[in-house]
Amino acid sequence: MRIILFGPPGVGKGTQAKILSKNLKIVHIATGDILREAVSRGTGLGNKAKSFMDRGELVPDDIVIGIIQERLKEHDARNGFILDGFPRTLPQAEALDKVFDKLGIKIDRVVSMEVDKEVLMNRLTSRRVCRNCGSIFNLLVDKLDDSKCKKCGGEIYQRDDDKRETIERRFEVYQNQTKPVKNYYSVKKLLVEVDGIGKIDEVTSWLKSAVK
Ligand code: AMP
Repeated sequence: MRIILFGPPGVGKGTQAKILSKNLKIVHIATGDILREAVSRGTGLGNKAKSFMDRGELVPDDIVIGIIQERLKEHDARNGFILDGFPRTLPQAEALDKVFDKLGIKIDRVVSMEVDKEVLMNRLTSRRVCRNCGSIFNLLVDKLDDSKCKKCGGEIYQRDDDKRETIERRFEVYQNQTKPVKNYYSVKKLLVEVDGIGKIDEVTSWLKSAVK
């Protein structure tokens, strides 16, 4: 199964994609994770991407399209995948279609997770990530008394792009550049909308029904 998980920043794409990837036994490919890893390793790609990410801007299309082209060719993507955070612009969506054509594959569903902006703002400013294992926590629901990861004991931090001003910019970018992608898939009759407000396992079950 090949799925695109779509939606504004903070809607829960990362959390849900990780769960669905395990349940459906398909690989989770998140351009944000790939870029953050490159930044933390200080690679050439990371150095190019960092300033865009810190400002809440999109990394240029040619860079992220290159990443996805390479990643989709890897062996573990053959059985299917969940794309999380890609495509985020119309040129990325068009480029993805070309990659699929070359690989002789088709997307099964594009699932758009819908949540109100104020809810998202609260969620994002209280999101924390483990520097060691990448687990995502939320101060609104998770107790992190000693700022240590509940899973591995690693250091918990707040992403620079989860600070309020940057989030405002990310929403603007979403409205102007990413939202048109929804229509692109709606016209192709691939889009399904799912409510993103609910308990994590509730949202997972709605998503699973949407991709059946
Ligand atoms: P995310 O973890 O998906 O919220 O992505 C974090 C940041 O990485 C975004 O705010 C962008 O700066 C960058 N990024 C991730 N995916 C893309 C993409 N498909 N196109 C452009 N920039 C991206």
